[in-house]
Amino acid sequence: MRDTEYHRLLGMNRDAFEELEAHLEERTYDGQTYRHVPDYRRGVERGTTLIDDTIVRGFPKVPRTLVLSDGVPERFADQPDDRIAVEEKLNGYNVRVVRLDGERLAFTRSGMICPFTTRIIERLVDFEDLFEQYPKAMVCGEMIGPENPYTAHDYPEVDSLAFRAFDWRDRESGEPLPVETRRERYETFDIPQTRLFGRFEVDEAATEIRRLIEKLDAEDREGVIMKSLDGTAQLKYTTSAANQGDLAYAFSLPFDYGQPFMFRRLIREGFQSVEWDESDAVARERAHELGEAILLSMHETIETVDAGDPVGERHTVRASPETVDVLFEHLERQGLTIDIEADRREDGDRVCTFLKQTRSTIDKTRNYLDGHIV
Ligand code: ATP
Repeated sequence: MRDTEYHRLLGMNRDAFEELEAHLEERTYDGQTYRHVPDYRRGVERGTTLIDDTIVRGFPKVPRTLVLSDGVPERFADQPDDRIAVEEKLNGYNVRVVRLDGERLAFTRSGMICPFTTRIIERLVDFEDLFEQYPKAMVCGEMIGPENPYTAHDYPEVDSLAFRAFDWRDRESGEPLPVETRRERYETFDIPQTRLFGRFEVDEAATEIRRLIEKLDAEDREGVIMKSLDGTAQLKYTTSAANQGDLAYAFSLPFDYGQPFMFRRLIREGFQSVEWDESDAVARERAHELGEAILLSMHETIETVDAGDPVGERHTVRASPETVDVLFEHLERQGLTIDIEADRREDGDRVCTFLKQTRSTIDKTRNYLDGHIV
């Protein structure tokens, strides 16, 4: 397809498209070349992919509030409805599934076709009828569970890896379905969805969400996403368990996670502590937990490197041997070094635990341990 047509699909003028083109990344999947928008750019969602003669829109960035009482009304004040839907925010990785030329493909957040997800999702969910009836649908959801190659988090209801739908958009325009229509359609097609906690008046939502967050926090779950009923506006808010879990993870690889990642999570804790009007004792308890999340994970990493062992992001996957092979090829093509730590067969599947080495943390920690002066 000529680029002039891409700019029309994207709703951009020619100059803006030319500027965007300079930032596209080119990749191949199954012998086919495609380009994607790997980062945030003005006018087009990150993760948008130009493939064949069509485009697949990225999933929009979800804004966050640090203060429920003011952030919720602020975000939804100009919406046509007085109510918003509140759904669970699941902690896994974002995936969009579309059908192109009769083939179902799964795209990750940054717009790459993930060969692992493309294959494994066929085993997890039956999309046949959905795409037969709605060929231009873009099914958006989260891949969750402990046997997960990107973001592993335990959910008692998931043994290995599962898919939960949370949005349905038009593949080319990115337009979402209203929440109720979307939930009904997924139900019709028997596709598992993220939990809907309810629909609340905008003015009362903050109080309801606070209650929900306390419950989710106690269950070590991530948080909520609020949505206007027409599906166009979203807002997220997370539990302290999620903030602290992220901090512990990031500080276990302190030189690989950007400092803004850590800083943002610390700030969230500060605002939550104040909005929830915590007593001195409760705030101290939070401070203690935060300190543990940061220091204990870092302590363990330094000791591991000191013992001469590698550190990194450890994951387990369970899939057909071919699916595991294509996953490793995909990760290595992105420049990652993979150490396979355990590898066995179970019911025809390959169950593999591997470490994505994080070079900066290994090298810098080693240098400091050797007395490097800063
Ligand atoms: P961004 O905010 O740009 O999406 P991020 O990595 O900061 O990027 P998160 O903080 O994890 O994202 O929050 C947004 C993500 O939450 C979505 O991209 C989506 O994958 C995930 N998510 C989980 N549950 C839901 C849900 N019910 N509705 C919408 N998104 C959800």
